[in-house]
Amino acid sequence: METFDPAELPELLKLYYRRLFPYAQYYRWLNYGGVTKNYFQHREFSFTLKDDIYIRYQSFNNQSDLEKEMQKMNPYKIDIGAVYSHRPNQHNTVKLGAFQAQEKELVFDIDMTDYDDVRRCCSSADICSKCWTLMTMAIRIIDRALKEDFGFKHRLWVYSGRRGVHCWVCDESVRKLSSAVRSGIVEYLSLVKGGQDVKKKVHLSEKIHPFVRKSINIIKKYFEDYALVDQDILENKESWDKILALVPETIHEKLQQNFQKHHNSLQRWEYLKKTISSQDNTKNDKCGPWLEWEIMLQYCFPRLDINVSKGINHLLKSPFSVHPKTGRISVPIDVQKVDQFDPFTVPTISSICRELDTISTNEGKRNEAESDIKHRTRDYKKTSLAPYIKVFEQFLENLDKSRKGELLKKSDLQKDF
Ligand SMILES: [Zn+2]
Repeated sequence: METFDPAELPELLKLYYRRLFPYAQYYRWLNYGGVTKNYFQHREFSFTLKDDIYIRYQSFNNQSDLEKEMQKMNPYKIDIGAVYSHRPNQHNTVKLGAFQAQEKELVFDIDMTDYDDVRRCCSSADICSKCWTLMTMAIRIIDRALKEDFGFKHRLWVYSGRRGVHCWVCDESVRKLSSAVRSGIVEYLSLVKGGQDVKKKVHLSEKIHPFVRKSINIIKKYFEDYALVDQDILENKESWDKILALVPETIHEKLQQNFQKHHNSLQRWEYLKKTISSQDNTKNDKCGPWLEWEIMLQYCFPRLDINVSKGINHLLKSPFSVHPKTGRISVPIDVQKVDQFDPFTVPTISSICRELDTISTNEGKRNEAESDIKHRTRDYKKTSLAPYIKVFEQFLENLDKSRKGELLKKSDLQKDF
């Protein structure tokens, strides 16, 4: 049941930052084992306060400093920026030009509004279970490529709280990548090109790149249910005209006539495939199986916000921040179970605060001697935030394991000399 009231946000946030926010795990993440001196201290955070007051270049000495400031400022939204050459909160005291962004996770931002020309159920900020499949496919396609094609180990996927997802790639070597290399990676991962005025946004060459082939294989698992049934992309003339614009004019008339005779998107899609494959490829009517794939990719392939990924100093909404409009928490997504992830069951700040109230009432008066921190650890575990924090902890475990592996390697190397 959805009962988030934005007017209650300040009070809810107070409770959230005092008793539910997973500071320990959060600090453990951004401190990265304390391997690099001042890594956490040189990290930029930005806070959006009430009435859209936006404060950049916040930075903190340690976990308790972060806790104190968050409880004091009560931010409506938290963004994470780069690790700088100096403490961001002292950037004014540094000589002009000396203050530089040095490292950051490689991030990806996928937003449902970028799919408005290919989803028929909702538009702009709205989402529903019918179009959420676009995000599921995006996560599976990008995550596979990051893991298998690039060898990146530490990928944290996060629900943005409203209409999209973010990915944080946190491998040590990735955090050091230049802006040029980041651009190259996003370029590799982009297939849908051209703005609103461009009708045909995907062009495949005859030789299909393995990345494209593997992406199509993922889309194939969803295409029938998602595109042909739920989105019904060949439902009527208006919708199939959009698809006709993506195929050569030589077959328009034939398709137009026969689409009328078929009863639904499934049948029309089958007919389209048959028509494409029956064309004579030696003639210059440019028909081939890639045509079918180009349509599938245009309707289903992830659309990345390139600027977010390539800029080292670009800010991105933090995991566990709250979405001020929906009240939903930006929770980590378990990629192993991405098909089951449902944005509509993600806890809202009001739902977890209510859960906390119920627990407190049931438990009666608290033992005053117990420390605040002990309370908090126990507190989030008793709310529906717990499973998402578990996903986050698993991600942190893997980071720890990698760091220990690196240390062992280094000490082995030393023994060899
Ligand atoms: Zn929708």
